[in-house]
Amino acid sequence: MNYRSPRGTHDIFGINALGMSLLEQKSKEIFKKYGFEEIRTPIFEDASLFMRSIGQATDIVEKEMYVFEDRKGRKLALRPEGTASLVRACIEHRMDISNPAGKFFYSGEMFRYERPQAGRYRQFHQIGAEYYGNSSPAADAEVIVLAQDLLAAVGIDKINVHINSLGCEKCRPFFRKTLIKYFSSAQGLCDDCARRLKNNPLRLLDCKIDAGKFIEVPQMANYLCDGCKDNFNSVKSLLKSVDCVYTVDEKLVRGLDYYTRTVFEIRSDSTSSQDALAAGGRYDNLVEELGGHDTPAMGFALGSERVMLAAQSVGLFNNFKDSEKIFIAIADQELFNGAFAFAVKIVRNGLSFNKDISVFGPINGKSLTNQLKYADKIQASKTIVFAKTEFENGKVLIKNMKDKTQIEAVINEL
Ligand code: ATP
Ligand code: MG
Repeated sequence: MNYRSPRGTHDIFGINALGMSLLEQKSKEIFKKYGFEEIRTPIFEDASLFMRSIGQATDIVEKEMYVFEDRKGRKLALRPEGTASLVRACIEHRMDISNPAGKFFYSGEMFRYERPQAGRYRQFHQIGAEYYGNSSPAADAEVIVLAQDLLAAVGIDKINVHINSLGCEKCRPFFRKTLIKYFSSAQGLCDDCARRLKNNPLRLLDCKIDAGKFIEVPQMANYLCDGCKDNFNSVKSLLKSVDCVYTVDEKLVRGLDYYTRTVFEIRSDSTSSQDALAAGGRYDNLVEELGGHDTPAMGFALGSERVMLAAQSVGLFNNFKDSEKIFIAIADQELFNGAFAFAVKIVRNGLSFNKDISVFGPINGKSLTNQLKYADKIQASKTIVFAKTEFENGKVLIKNMKDKTQIEAVINEL
């Protein structure tokens, strides 16, 4: 029996693992600068947490969640996204009261039962942030610019920022009614849209099948109340003030129920894919709906694998500098212990001429020729050879693996 990773999952190794680490490390630096602190939540939660927050009539809850029962019959779900878990954690630890202006970030695996294709997997990674307690449009602008900075940090600066306002509980119901009325008389809706018309009519606006079929579709912009209109104008002028170029996209509605007012998506300009690299928005009612204090909130998440694909297409790894690889070889087996101690010492302290090294060897029981072959195979740039005569004089040989030249060096000076 040959085992393979389950459909839609991937082993991440080599250059992709390096890239993912780089993205995680850079994003941590940027979150810190913007004053966000880390939260790690469980990978599974009560299934009802997601059903309630994301909404029954959404793709995620309707068909993408991994739901299972544990041995005591509890209904659990692998997390499909981060926001619901963070809200749950903040309420559970009373952070909605003790830290009402909390700024948090997370990073980790998410699970959605989707049809796998490039940039769309069943287990994938998101890096995201949530900004609680600030209803000002400045929080919206800050989160959008933060997402933009994360992408820029891994070399993705050719992007399109799409923004829209979905209104609030005052103005959205009227827009929903108008949409239901408009689409009820429309012919040729796809099956999903026909089914969703009553309980999630906004989704019809960004349906991948039906988009473009209809003309003079009602636009949210014409239905926004004065408060939402002012708010959206402020978001736009704040974005302009920090040179964020955006497009107002009337069709951007986002799949999740909890959004209010500002929503956004960032797409890559350099890959042909129209899929979003990052997406988010404001959700001013969710904390209270899940049992917390009335706390406005704004957040986003980026898909790490999609960001990696985009980063590779703009050559992220072309100038990626890996540590210098050093191999330790022994010409005489009895020098193994001395070579081993030296290897650990340089792992801990680096070499005097380079602190940024990765150390391999020594290996015992192999001829020197085989050891050097191994050094070539792992692409070591230098091999430090422990040989009896030199070692007795406190010296080793340093072999340059590219031009095959070698020099003597005093061990204590390395
Ligand atoms: P899409 O419209 O592409 O399905 P979404 O609206 O479902 O995206 P969100 O829930 O907003 O996506 O998630 C935020 C980001 O996470 C997306 O912009 C994307 O980069 C990433 N993402 C979402 N689903 C997947 C997936 N199945 N595989 C890989 N990345 C994903
Ligand atoms: Mg999706």
